[in-house]
Amino acid sequence: MVKKELQWKNMERKPIKNLGEEKRERLNPKEILCAEQHPEAELIEISVKMRRTPGVFTKVVKTLYEKKVKLFSGFHTVSREDDTALIGAFIDISNSSVQVKDIATDLESIEGVLEVNFSEKRFNGLMIDSLHFPLLVSGERSFTFRVETFGRIVESLYEKFGTGAAVVLYQMGVSAGEDKVRSVLNKHRMNKLDVLKLILAERTAKGWCMAELAEFNTDRATLIVKELFECLPFKGRKGEAFSQFFRGYLAGIFEHVLNTSVSVVEAECIAKGDPVCRFIVQERL
Ligand SMILES: [Zn+2]
Repeated sequence: MVKKELQWKNMERKPIKNLGEEKRERLNPKEILCAEQHPEAELIEISVKMRRTPGVFTKVVKTLYEKKVKLFSGFHTVSREDDTALIGAFIDISNSSVQVKDIATDLESIEGVLEVNFSEKRFNGLMIDSLHFPLLVSGERSFTFRVETFGRIVESLYEKFGTGAAVVLYQMGVSAGEDKVRSVLNKHRMNKLDVLKLILAERTAKGWCMAELAEFNTDRATLIVKELFECLPFKGRKGEAFSQFFRGYLAGIFEHVLNTSVSVVEAECIAKGDPVCRFIVQERL
């Protein structure tokens, strides 16, 4: 028993109340390049790989600008393997008097540009990114799910398995949480509180929710979680707190980081009309 308390208490602790103070209430959204449709525009997809030499990026953008090409959504990434960068974007060439091939030739002639690819493929007028794969997040192979789709999966699980669905979802969360801690510890050397903070911060970057460690005492932690993907499809529609996957996820990360058994209760939930989801993590004694 004493050992358990020490494990929880020994964590390096900084004043928690400062954690969220610098955060802005509202963040701007982040869009992954996927599909675009504009009846007025003549959309083309472009993918330009270049050396990370000063000035190359500017020359590429300047060349497009000179051809009267309008940039739509896009991305710019830097390779982890070599000293290259990649721009992928949808562009509108309706105001440009030159052909796509000529734009490609001009871009290829820029010193430092290694590869230029174009796609004009459309699906019923919809332009879909067909030049990039796999989807990487922080260099890791990922895929996306619509929040509504996840909601429907959860709904059908409850229809088929009744309350058993809650157990399945909770356990899925525990495994995901444990896996996350292992992956963080494999990559970074940091203290336990920083591991927790990093994992929570990453939930925002990965679009899960905006989670904040509001309280961290010797035997209890409270998390304020805004716009949680799991509860969002059921906003105001349920009589009780709804999260099982994320509740399990928190249990998985806290248990693995603290090396002790914890219980996680969702005390407030947007699914039952509360403004945020609030989780309380306590050491199981
Ligand atoms: Zn909730």
